[in-house]
Amino acid sequence: MHVHSDYCLDLNNTLGLSAKAHQLVCLDHEHQLPDLQELVRRQPNCWVLGGGSNVVLAPKVKALVIKVQTTGVQLLSETDTEVIVEAQAGENWHQFVQCCLQQGWWGLENLALIPGTVGAAPVQNIGAYGVELQQFVHRVRVWDLHQGKAFSYEASQCGFGYRDSLFKQAGAGRYVIVAVQFKLTKPRAWLPVLRYPDLVQHQALQQSVTAPAVFDAVVEIRQAKLPDPTQLANAGSFFKNPIVATDLYEQIRIHYPTVVAYPQKEQMKLAAGWLIEHAGWKGKQLGPVGMHARQALVLVNYGGATYEQVQQLVLQVKADVWRLFQVELEQEPINMA
Ligand SMILES: Cc1cc2nc3c(=O)[nH]c(=O)nc-3n(C[C@H](O)[C@H](O)[C@H](O)COP(=O)(O)OP(=O)(O)OC[C@H]3O[C@@H](n4cnc5c(N)ncnc54)[C@H](O)[C@@H]3O)c2cc1C
Repeated sequence: MHVHSDYCLDLNNTLGLSAKAHQLVCLDHEHQLPDLQELVRRQPNCWVLGGGSNVVLAPKVKALVIKVQTTGVQLLSETDTEVIVEAQAGENWHQFVQCCLQQGWWGLENLALIPGTVGAAPVQNIGAYGVELQQFVHRVRVWDLHQGKAFSYEASQCGFGYRDSLFKQAGAGRYVIVAVQFKLTKPRAWLPVLRYPDLVQHQALQQSVTAPAVFDAVVEIRQAKLPDPTQLANAGSFFKNPIVATDLYEQIRIHYPTVVAYPQKEQMKLAAGWLIEHAGWKGKQLGPVGMHARQALVLVNYGGATYEQVQQLVLQVKADVWRLFQVELEQEPINMA
């Protein structure tokens, strides 16, 4: 495996930060994993990188960066109603969703147009428009860099939570996700998930509700709502929606009756975008970074921003939201330093 030194990552992160990896190696095939293990033995400080759409890169990433770019999609088994499909970690997520729909393997349509790779999808249990990845995961195949061995985890062993998993917590930097196996539905057994108001009201879904129609609607809604990172550098939603005790929610509601929140088991999930907007940050800039004018939850780099400037903005937004609501915002993208 070729090890690149001082590798420029400027085009490898959608937030458009200028960064260099101390070392970078590309994983193109699974059979390279034992060689990778040898490299990691010599340089144990490492980060796995997919499409770079959920990371905040320091100017110097003082680690061995493992860029996963393995490809391939395979049907493993099928019944009258279901299929088990395996995709390699480096596959582009959106293209994989498209490929599944074309094959008549339905289920992932609400997760259309999420940037990044298949391998990163379980890391934060990607979610959108009323569904989360964990609902479709059959197994996750990983390489454990601590033990130098391959393992396969069932969905129930992955510690999936809201934008969270074992791979983001204790397993961060330990596991390379090599492939993900999905349990998907054939059209005859498929049920749409149309809880999200934008989808319920979507014109095209009033007549025919098929997975490809839901996919098209999701793509259209996302394109209208979210800034395209190729046009305006960003890493999607920058903060998680905070989950708070019902008491705190009630207190906030007394002063702010329009606060947007959804029940979450015994607690309430607050819309972080609403909190940021009401803390005065919607459309506001701090130097070359700011919170987007239409989507307050999206932190954008208007050009030439540094890691430091992103951190400054994050601190200020968090402080203002805390001051007003006593709610702690948690950053969603991973800081890679
Ligand atoms: C415009 C925009 C919209 C977005 N919308 C959504 C959304 O609706 N819902 C949502 O959940 N997310 C969303 N995101 C966030 C992002 O797209 C997802 O988190 C995506 O899964 C990241 O994929 P990636 O390949 O770019 O991962 P990276 O950014 O490269 O990595 C993210 C994390 O995953 C780890 N990782 C990556 N690949 C592997 C692997 N093979 N093995 C082990 N660890 C790995 C990295 O170490 C890092 O911790 C959005 C981002 C953008 C820019």
